[in-house]
Amino acid sequence: MIRIVPFLFFLLCTVSSACAVVEIRLAGGAPVQIRSVYLHDGIVFLSLREILPPLQLSGVWDGAKRLYRIKAAGGEILLAPGSRKLRYGNRSLVLKQPPRFFAGELCVPEEVVTTHLPRLLDLEITYINPDAAANHRDNFWLDDADDALPPPLPLQQIVIDPGHGGDDPGAISPEGVKEKDLTLALALRLEKLLKMEGLAPLRLTRDGDYVVPLSRRAGKIHGAPAENLLVSLHMSAWKSSQTHGCTIYFLPLRDNEENSFLLAQSLDAALQGAGVADCTFERVTLSPLNRTPFPAVLLELGYLTNPDEFGLLSSPDGQERIARALALGVKNYAAKRPRRITDVPVTQ
Ligand SMILES: [Zn+2]
Repeated sequence: MIRIVPFLFFLLCTVSSACAVVEIRLAGGAPVQIRSVYLHDGIVFLSLREILPPLQLSGVWDGAKRLYRIKAAGGEILLAPGSRKLRYGNRSLVLKQPPRFFAGELCVPEEVVTTHLPRLLDLEITYINPDAAANHRDNFWLDDADDALPPPLPLQQIVIDPGHGGDDPGAISPEGVKEKDLTLALALRLEKLLKMEGLAPLRLTRDGDYVVPLSRRAGKIHGAPAENLLVSLHMSAWKSSQTHGCTIYFLPLRDNEENSFLLAQSLDAALQGAGVADCTFERVTLSPLNRTPFPAVLLELGYLTNPDEFGLLSSPDGQERIARALALGVKNYAAKRPRRITDVPVTQ
């Protein structure tokens, strides 16, 4: 395979240079050809380095913050590789695809040129892409591109919140097993596993059987909000033993929603491998989520009143499987989460 790559590279470059390329023209200006055009998942990406000059814009890569700053009349436009957010002044919008690196250059989906820059900056842009599929360098670069994505900043803090405690037992199984005891046992297992991963400093909102006020379940921020996370552990009960299932709640807060949702997805994917039912996701304003200034999820892992789920949630083996899945979910989230550009101060 390794020997084929240089040949493919040669071939693709030859083919792409022989084809038509994308053209951009600002009203009153001459058309400019854009040669660094890439197709990924059916979306056309264009090199920022090439598209900005014809639009009479300039931009710089901010290596410290790992984002791209485009200077515009009304302030800065901020884009970050791997993040779907585009921010301009105090406003932000969500792109269909995040900017990505191709061949070492940060590229944006063509919607930035066809839709967002014209609207945001009131520009009249003519964009000509004669054949969206045929004339681009293809996915050949993607392995390199993924390697080129800068990794997210390391997490600064993981808060694990075992639900209930003290005179608040939470849900109770028909046999009298209390949610507060199971969530604590699970949290201690998860803490141990995450400590071994060495991802970030850990904090448990309680490490024994006592009441923790809601105000202290949220945690204090360390570093930027996006570098923290909170996982609140709960289990349910219901009058019918048939009722079962897992729900992951997260707060519909603009700043944290994207990362909270990614965390929920990552935990859900890992939990399925541990025998937990497919989790449904719900956006709710629920404590401690609404007191937490960083990405947070609350898991209702299953029903203590359902015999199968009770077996999984209460047995040492089941608890270990769930704890391992949660640790994996957190680890995957830590590796893949996008950088948040809303944390970055904007220079006007
Ligand atoms: Zn609970």
